[in-house]
Amino acid sequence: MTTRKIATIAIHGGDLKDKGHNAIFPPIVTASSFVQPNLGEGGEFSYSRCGNPTRKAYESALAALEGGIYATATASGMAATSLALELLPRDAHLIVMSSVYGGTYRLFEDLRTRTSGLSFTYVDLNNIQAVTSAIQSNTAMIWIETPTNPLLELVDMTAICNLAQENNLLTCVDNTFSTAWNQRPLSHGADIVMLSTSKYIGGHSDLIGGALITARDDLATSLDKLKTTVGATASPFDAYLALRGLKTLDVRMERQCANALKIAEFLSAHSEILEVHYPGLPSHPQHVLCNKQMRTGGAVVTIRLRGNKETVRRFIGRLELFVLAESLGGVESMVNHTASMSHGSVPQKEREAMGIYFETLRLSVGIEDADDLIDDLKQALAP
Ligand SMILES: *Cc1c(COP(=O)(O)O)cnc(C)c1O
Repeated sequence: MTTRKIATIAIHGGDLKDKGHNAIFPPIVTASSFVQPNLGEGGEFSYSRCGNPTRKAYESALAALEGGIYATATASGMAATSLALELLPRDAHLIVMSSVYGGTYRLFEDLRTRTSGLSFTYVDLNNIQAVTSAIQSNTAMIWIETPTNPLLELVDMTAICNLAQENNLLTCVDNTFSTAWNQRPLSHGADIVMLSTSKYIGGHSDLIGGALITARDDLATSLDKLKTTVGATASPFDAYLALRGLKTLDVRMERQCANALKIAEFLSAHSEILEVHYPGLPSHPQHVLCNKQMRTGGAVVTIRLRGNKETVRRFIGRLELFVLAESLGGVESMVNHTASMSHGSVPQKEREAMGIYFETLRLSVGIEDADDLIDDLKQALAP
């Protein structure tokens, strides 16, 4: 069973049996409550915040996919991140990858510093020296995101998880950009995987969801209690949609990542492109690490156009297949204007210090024909 590949696990992993009618796919059970035949004779489910058959089937599939023993599906990726923080005592300290997802940064800085007394140190996790010196007596967790958004920097998961274990720290990896298809953080020693399932797991830009997955018994027990206490669990409808999406993860990822590599190669050779960030290209500074811990370079390609604001507007306006939108991971190709969209709240000076310019664009590559996508980019870049 453990030797089965992701493609098979996506279809057959987890416990998807329908005990009612032997349906080939778990039905959507919308009930809030479950009847108890007699006093003291409750069944597996009692109340849907605590447990729901549709959500449970989906969670078992997620756990199988990431190689864990337990998954909890939440209402959004942010709800999953928020839930992970509930594992920590008040006034705990976290070490966080420097270019962490904007929503994660906002939750940490604008909320949890105030409401839980948490404190955060942001460091480039590739600088082991810096990570080691950031450890304090109250440090409880290292928050890893790899690859990062939008510049696709990687973190050596094995190195950081080893360091964390030596210092008795928890590790949580935001695996949204890769999913288990590209990398399995638990196999590198991570304690928890966090996912925004709104992206590649759902895959069709039609749901918001998140999850935490672990292979540790103690964390599974804690997370299960916490998710019931906090209550931000995924609805049965969303669990159904996400499970439906998850089934085709392999074929989607295979196409999307292959398309992304072709597009990255095309753009690298184009005179109007100043920078191409894609871990699957040998020119990426961490290409060796990519080969070590990822199956491919992923399906996101970030570029910097040559030119000015007008060039950027013209390029985006001309694109016919790449739609201008927030988010990523859907079957349709998307373009994101990082400076005004995902990093719109970061001041220009700070943003540029991070390497994100007005001319920086993030492409989320879909499952369309690669040549058509390249033709679209070609005509949009023409003089
Ligand atoms: C989208 C995203 C999140 C947040 O997930 P939501 O489902 O939007 O709440 C967290 N991390 C990363 C890397 C993301 O891309």
